[in-house]
Amino acid sequence: MDLRSLDIKNLQGVGLKKAEVLKSDANIFSYEDLLYYFPYKHIDRSRFYKVNELRGNMPYVQLYGQIRNFKTLGEGRKKRLTAQFIDNTGILELVWFKGADYVIKNITPKQNFVIFGKPTVFNKRVNMAHPEVERPEDFKRKLQGGALMPVYNTSERMKKSYLSSKGIQRIQANLRNFLGMSRVSDTLPFYLVEQERLMRLDEALKQIHFPESAQQLAKAQLRLKFEELFLIQLRTLRTKHMRMDKYRGLPCPLIGDLFNDFFNNHLPFDLTGAQKRVIREIRQDMGREIQMNRLLQGDVGSGKTLVALMTILIALDNGYQACLMAPTEILAHQHLESITEMLGNMDINVRLLTGSTKKAERAEIHTGLLDGSIHILIGTHALLENIVQFKNLGIAVIDEQHRFGVAQRSKLWNKNQDPPHVLVMTATPIPRTLAMTVYGDLDVSIIDELPPGRKPIKTVHYFEGKQIEVEQFMRKELAKGRQIYVVYPLIQESEKLDMKSLEEGFEHLKKSFPEPEYSIGIVHGKLKNEDKDLAMNAFAKGETQILVATTVIEVGVNVPNASVMMINSTERFGLSQLHQLRGRVGRGAEQSYCILTSSYKLSEESKLRIQTMVGTNDGFEIAEADLKLRGPGDLEGTQQSGIPIQLKIASLTRDAQILQHARDVTEAILSEDPKLELEKNAVLVDTLRKQKAAQINWSVIS
Ligand code: ADP
Ligand code: MG
Repeated sequence: MDLRSLDIKNLQGVGLKKAEVLKSDANIFSYEDLLYYFPYKHIDRSRFYKVNELRGNMPYVQLYGQIRNFKTLGEGRKKRLTAQFIDNTGILELVWFKGADYVIKNITPKQNFVIFGKPTVFNKRVNMAHPEVERPEDFKRKLQGGALMPVYNTSERMKKSYLSSKGIQRIQANLRNFLGMSRVSDTLPFYLVEQERLMRLDEALKQIHFPESAQQLAKAQLRLKFEELFLIQLRTLRTKHMRMDKYRGLPCPLIGDLFNDFFNNHLPFDLTGAQKRVIREIRQDMGREIQMNRLLQGDVGSGKTLVALMTILIALDNGYQACLMAPTEILAHQHLESITEMLGNMDINVRLLTGSTKKAERAEIHTGLLDGSIHILIGTHALLENIVQFKNLGIAVIDEQHRFGVAQRSKLWNKNQDPPHVLVMTATPIPRTLAMTVYGDLDVSIIDELPPGRKPIKTVHYFEGKQIEVEQFMRKELAKGRQIYVVYPLIQESEKLDMKSLEEGFEHLKKSFPEPEYSIGIVHGKLKNEDKDLAMNAFAKGETQILVATTVIEVGVNVPNASVMMINSTERFGLSQLHQLRGRVGRGAEQSYCILTSSYKLSEESKLRIQTMVGTNDGFEIAEADLKLRGPGDLEGTQQSGIPIQLKIASLTRDAQILQHARDVTEAILSEDPKLELEKNAVLVDTLRKQKAAQINWSVIS
């Protein structure tokens, strides 16, 4: 039976209206989708609480006792029904805001009931609104299915359509009846289920919705988590295998004159141990006859540009051209500058191509790329245009890769007959589990060491209103000859308001730091490119001391003399953004500071974000915290990844071990059977095919 082709509207107890809501709010289109709509937790209904144990912050609890003293209070919209619930330890007030008649009719005094609900505190007293009330005999009958009650995510709209958690439970039961004894066919081959001692799929799907015991539930969860993570690994690693099979790498065995000349005569400082290690990894990759597809992760300021340049030199030494793509013009410019500076008088032709490159120059660049006289092309998205063709592109480096999508990466692949080696770099560290899933098909190199002599940035948090103290501190730093960034949030949805606060902040600062003693620049996305460059360059040269900016300076910009990063309305930035911004300082040998200011009203999540920033400078720790706070679907770079990272049951923070194991198992399977041709793996091929079909299927229809 193919449960994917059965429309949910036909399931008993669903119908057209509910089906609409299930589709729009829960992505449930078919019977199978419902089956895979897992509860996010289970409540143990074998446990009874006493009234005197109740506290305001408890989850759902159940009690056993009598209900009496019904009273109708208030008028109109405030009208409500109250009653007293009594057991041998005390009295709990119950309240209903609607359905009073029904409640009164069904609850007989002097009889015992099981009530179930969430205690809340009102007027300093614990009460419970809209408890579920059941007769003991009904409750017992229900418990025969198991004392663990599943709880499903629901939206307001779902609740209004009788699809509360309980409503979902009901239709899950209908689906279970419909399935009867017929087995859901397993997505994993039998030998794998055996080998891993997993629960069979049909059993797991039953136990997750209707657990018979805590042990059975745990086994079901393990099975489903493994399946989910394993199938992602299988998909990505198989793609990788196919890619390695299909493409011949451009061989770069030579470490030649350019690399050696640079290494011996131009290197501005000693490489860090981590830089050396990564360059070795890259050299090995490029020397072999395989195409390199490598992710280079390194915290802000860890010196990735230099690694990129040395990688490029390897390609050049072997007769190839190179390109380096950055997400913004500012960054592309900066790369051009720092790379030309590092190369000095070496005979290498480096050019810049961005959206604002003039037509005549463009034409000249296109010709130079085709005849091979341009060796390195640095630029923005403009590089991706079809008209940009190379004579023989050997390596494509993508900086701040999380700003680009998979589609863009693959465009670079097509710039050469055999795809070039690809090095993608990111300074937004990605937790290992996420890297393994989202970038599972890439090899990963990590720079986990900062250049010597850097002092850790000191981060402090102030509430708004401490302006005077903050400005005093800024004056002290300026007096030492340092420079300061002052950042304001700017998001599209509230662009006008944000622009206003940016400009007001700028005006205010001009008064506090008047000319000619001080000079202040401003840069934001609304400026013309020339003006942006002017402002950035003035700051980079030290002509302006304070730079007021939006997040346009978030990535990459390098001004080592800047020692203070002051961020306004910190609560409006994401963690990785804050970390990126902070990374703009602490690039020289001086002690640097990051000042986070926020309003007094902070959500729990904002508080945690600020605490994390104050507590650590480590990008990987911050990435882990971000992953915990936001879940993987919202992390930068994951949306474009093409991997459905909204996992249904596994958690990338909690199930790292299962993930690692799933990856090991996948690798073992693929090393025995790289193309999945063995009969015993036929089920896997089938599962992958179905998954792919399902992805396209309903999303196109609905
Ligand atoms: P990111 O990894 O954030 O892109 P950059 O490549 O911009 O970092 O490097 C940050 C700064 O560190 C630059 O000023 C660069 O010149 C400097 N740097 C890079 N490698 C070293 C090193 N081995 N020793 C000292 N300074 C270095
Ligand atoms: Mg960089």
